Amino acid sequence: EGRWSLAGSTALVTGGSKGIGHAIVEELAGLGARVHTCSRNAAELEECRRRWEDKNLRVTVSVCDVSVRAEREKLMDTVKQALGGKLDILVNNAGQSMVKAAMECTGEDYALVMATNIESCFHLAQLAHPLLLSAGGGASSVVHISSIAGFVGFPGLAVYSMTKGAMNQLTRSLAAEWAGDGIRVNCVAPGGINTDIAKDMIMRNPEIVKSQTTQVPMQRLGETEEVASVVAFLCMPAASYITGQVICVDGGRTIA
Ligand code: NDP
Repeated sequence: EGRWSLAGSTALVTGGSKGIGHAIVEELAGLGARVHTCSRNAAELEECRRRWEDKNLRVTVSVCDVSVRAEREKLMDTVKQALGGKLDILVNNAGQSMVKAAMECTGEDYALVMATNIESCFHLAQLAHPLLLSAGGGASSVVHISSIAGFVGFPGLAVYSMTKGAMNQLTRSLAAEWAGDGIRVNCVAPGGINTDIAKDMIMRNPEIVKSQTTQVPMQRLGETEEVASVVAFLCMPAASYITGQVICVDGGRTIA
């Protein structure tokens, strides 16, 4: 159990069937963690599970819609069983985008994005707290996946961006409150990453494409692995004095 290893640790990563979450599952499992992940699509999850098994990665899966309170409770029960009652790492990654002019957002739109992107993170952190405590050693950690949309204003992304700004603050608040419990809480804020969400946004909002190509100093989208590596680092003993931080993985977008 070295400073740059996750050997022997256990992790829950939400939304691991695709995109950034999928890369995080592979990164953590590849570094020696036992991982549980969820999404809403049973067939896709099973397909992933089979591929991970073939690669000798130790990953279990279950269906959960993180926007639903009762499903979150069921997920944490499943995790308790699957990982033997101890959780070293919680990664709140599952989220959904909504590209819509503010004036067109309905009450239902608002409630869905809030429930999926932020209420889920707060509640899953609450549910995980006893398991993170019993991981012991004062070395457990929570990582949220927010977005640079939590720092920068993008047209058509008001509600989505509100949830991401809230995740950034939740990170600081929980970090302060749980430091005494030996639980570090950090956040990774990706810029444009090459996933389904990015493709969807690019299709619906050419403004964002333009800002990606002209306002990113590195002049490209990021890859999912480039986010996963930072998440893994934050969970390692090597990051033992880092808490309450929001780290942008954005090719320099927020400093340009
Ligand atoms: P993808 O759409 O590629 O993957 C999202 C994953 O989350 C899928 O596994 C999806 O499975 C799951 N998911 C979505 N909604 C729910 C739900 N209600 N309950 C359970 N699982 C769910 O998205 P990304 O990988 O791009 O995004 C991951 C995170 O990164 C999100 O929080 C997003 O906001 C953030 N992000 C992404 C950026 C990007 O450019 N891609 C930029 C900045 C932040 P299923 O749909 O089957 O449930």
